[in-house]
Amino acid sequence: MNSKLPNTNTSIFAVMSQLANENNAINLSQGFPNFDVSPKLIELVNENMKRGFNQYAPMPGIIKLREIISEKTEKLYNRKYNPETEITITAGATQALYTAITALINEGDEVIVFEPVYDSYLPAIELSGGKPIFLELKGKDYKIDWNEVQKVVTAKTRMLIINSPHNPTGSVLDENDIKQLEKIVTGTNITVLSDEVYEHIIFDGKKHLSVSTSEKLAKCSIIVSSFGKTFHTTGWKIGYCVAPKELMKEFRKVHQFVVYAVNTPLQYAISEYLEDESNYLNISAMYQEKRDYFNKALKNSKFEIIPTSGTYFQLLDYTNLSQLKDTEYAEYLTKEHKVAAIPISAFYHDKIKSKVLRFCFAKDKNTLDSAIEKLLKL
Ligand code: PMP
Ligand code: GLN
Repeated sequence: MNSKLPNTNTSIFAVMSQLANENNAINLSQGFPNFDVSPKLIELVNENMKRGFNQYAPMPGIIKLREIISEKTEKLYNRKYNPETEITITAGATQALYTAITALINEGDEVIVFEPVYDSYLPAIELSGGKPIFLELKGKDYKIDWNEVQKVVTAKTRMLIINSPHNPTGSVLDENDIKQLEKIVTGTNITVLSDEVYEHIIFDGKKHLSVSTSEKLAKCSIIVSSFGKTFHTTGWKIGYCVAPKELMKEFRKVHQFVVYAVNTPLQYAISEYLEDESNYLNISAMYQEKRDYFNKALKNSKFEIIPTSGTYFQLLDYTNLSQLKDTEYAEYLTKEHKVAAIPISAFYHDKIKSKVLRFCFAKDKNTLDSAIEKLLKL
């Protein structure tokens, strides 16, 4: 077999969730909430199935959902996307990211990515014959060093992938980052692929700065979001992508043959659920409470808490607890102490000496309490 992805292993999320299940450990590894979906949203799905919306949706998604996404984007980020030509409903953010990368990256194109980097970008770049250019986020607040970015931009740079709020670190882009990014892309052929799946999970009064807030960036960006994150429905695999018409035209050429169209009754249900903006605007407060609860309890532990400004992930440094590599320590914690987390070296292409694990706090109080109790014993 001549593998197209010779260096790719099974995703760390699959590996750690399986290990957690096999060891009956509390699974704070793979990022998914364990509390209920809104009964109202479930009811809407049910109603729309009963109404008979069970056949193929239009290829880019039902227009009602695209219209309400357009309104939401305009209201929150002051940017208007045409629902007919500039918005597409996707089977989660994963499909949107894969589709965007394969639609735009040709053999030899360079794609700038920042480590720790979310795991789904690299295989898509590789399958397209692209070349990832790795830069590292700097310091405990995991910031982009824009001077470094400027230095690696070449005539071959075709894409730059950013993710804010950032998985796994919880760092968020600020206004200066947006300005620096504008400078980088001006006068180039670079498309920004902006992974904004955690747009509604941001803390401490910070505002999510979508690249769509910038006129310059909006013109050259594909933005990806996910209803899985926003509505605690990661298993529904539904999200969307917005981009200017010319980019969206290329995106849809691939989209139609990757998935054609996405789950119809969910699209109707979500389009109705989005009418009440509190359904997505209140999510940050709910998660901030969980973050604060988890961190307050762990203040007296031997872990060092690395501040998180968004997402439902918390990084903990275990330097005071063990000399083991993070992959080994994650395995040890899962097997011996029954708490599973993600070793962040999994988000780097080269083996790094990390002593940091990622914990998902999108869990009900009982689950968090049980995990806290175990972690405090270390
Ligand atoms: N991007 C990031 C940064 C993510 O964390 C995730 C999922 N956790 C995705 C993309 C994929 O989202 P989806 O489940 O909608 O495919
Ligand atoms: N994005 C989720 C995480 O970061 C996992 C998604 C997946 O399992 N592919 O944990």
